Amino acid sequence: MGSLKVDPELENGSTSMLNLNPLDPDEFRRQAHMMVDFLADYYQNIEKYPVRSQVEPGYLSKCLPGSAPYHPEPIEKILYDVERHIIPGITHWQSPNHFAFFPCGGSIAGFLGEMLSTGFNVVGFNWMSSPAATELESIVMDWLGKMLQLPNSFLFSGGGGGVLQGTTCEAILCTLAAARDHCLDRIGRDWIGKLVVYGSDQTHFAVQKAARIAGINPDNFRAITTTKASAFGLSPDSLESAIVSDVKAGLIPLFLCATIGTTSSTAVDSLGPLCDVAKRYNMWVHVDAAYAGSACICQEFRHFIDGVEGANSFSLNAHKWFFTNLDCCCLWVKDPNALIKALSTSTPEYLKNKASESNQVVDYKDWQIALSRRFRAMKLWLVLRTYGVVNLRNFIRGHVNMAKHFEGLVAMDHRFELVVPRNFAMVCFRVSPSALRDHREPSDANCVNKFNRKLLESINSAGRIYMTHAVVGGVYVIRFAVGASLTNYQHVNMAWKVVQDHAHAMLLTSS
Ligand SMILES: *Cc1c(COP(=O)(O)O)cnc(C)c1O
Repeated sequence: MGSLKVDPELENGSTSMLNLNPLDPDEFRRQAHMMVDFLADYYQNIEKYPVRSQVEPGYLSKCLPGSAPYHPEPIEKILYDVERHIIPGITHWQSPNHFAFFPCGGSIAGFLGEMLSTGFNVVGFNWMSSPAATELESIVMDWLGKMLQLPNSFLFSGGGGGVLQGTTCEAILCTLAAARDHCLDRIGRDWIGKLVVYGSDQTHFAVQKAARIAGINPDNFRAITTTKASAFGLSPDSLESAIVSDVKAGLIPLFLCATIGTTSSTAVDSLGPLCDVAKRYNMWVHVDAAYAGSACICQEFRHFIDGVEGANSFSLNAHKWFFTNLDCCCLWVKDPNALIKALSTSTPEYLKNKASESNQVVDYKDWQIALSRRFRAMKLWLVLRTYGVVNLRNFIRGHVNMAKHFEGLVAMDHRFELVVPRNFAMVCFRVSPSALRDHREPSDANCVNKFNRKLLESINSAGRIYMTHAVVGGVYVIRFAVGASLTNYQHVNMAWKVVQDHAHAMLLTSS
């Protein structure tokens, strides 16, 4: 039997009055100031750390005690341990040399908005539980919808509406559930096994996962093949032939997820023609613009979502490329009732209130999976107001221009090639087969892929920059995603030099 510690305070029969208020305003002021200083120093010195964490699995349990402290510990001591033990295990997404995945671009406004929201710490499940949380969310969703020139039908002012969720995965699950119930209400629940969900082989796995959770038959998820010829966009003809053969087999087309800016290569599905096909079969179309949607606040990128008026729902992650700290996924739907029908439950007595019964308010608990919800609108509101449309566009254009600059550097070096056209602020490149031939290296597809994989690992282990990869059309590509808020041209130039140096060394040693 383990020995049970006796609470020393109970032991000597006293209750200490020291620090018994976990929200003491004076202590809050002191410690929170300290924390802001800590973070300011972190941002200032962020480049001194390796971008990708270099620790081995399990490293942290070697540094920390096996059980929680019984006695309180001061914030100073805890911060010291953050510096010593946690930071080595951090991959620095805010580093200007982080070019991996997609950006998670934070900002002062995003941080302060999060701070306010966390400080108020309200649980805005329905309107009454914090009217400002609900109303601000509806207002900023209409603001952002207008900035994107979404059709009026997606805005509250036009009969639709927007909601802030945690992530795209949740947003897709919610829209899929809405589409499913909308369809089954018409034809009967027994048909669920016949429903089919469509995407391309570039569609984010979130859709397949959502389909599984939503009870769609796992055999009824179609990942339609894309090709380099169509720049890895989903072809409306391929979609239609997949649908036709499913219909012939007695299945029921339900849902299409079209992507604006795929995760692998930022490919774009053309919404107009795809929505036309989907409409003929009465399907729900969701537009996943998790990363690239943000760029559509700039006129020169808006054409990428032309045709969105034919879709049923649209989402983007403000925590990717919209300077809003994690997490903040913006979802708009044309038919909020479809969402509400799928996600609401009969209201338990303790949630009943006059406002909800009046049907004049939004109860966002019915627009998402969970009951409790954070005051996320606060950070989006701060971001929109602090930077204004003008600077948000400038930030995005700045990143796109840096990516263009990097693209130019790649194009000038004959040992490298660009693999797919650049659409936004991400460049997909690799060491070319001809460079390997020049160095008398085997240059069949497999060897070229292997060489590039080794190159990327060598770069990332060195820690100065961090990039990740994808495989598109069988080709291993290195993805250079610009978008960290601290990045400037100097970092992009340095990154290119790091790539060249590593490639040069590898080509020399191998020949
Ligand atoms: C990042 C991404 C997702 C997943 O986003 P989460 O918010 O992490 O769920 C989905 N689709 C695309 C295209 C993405 O780039």
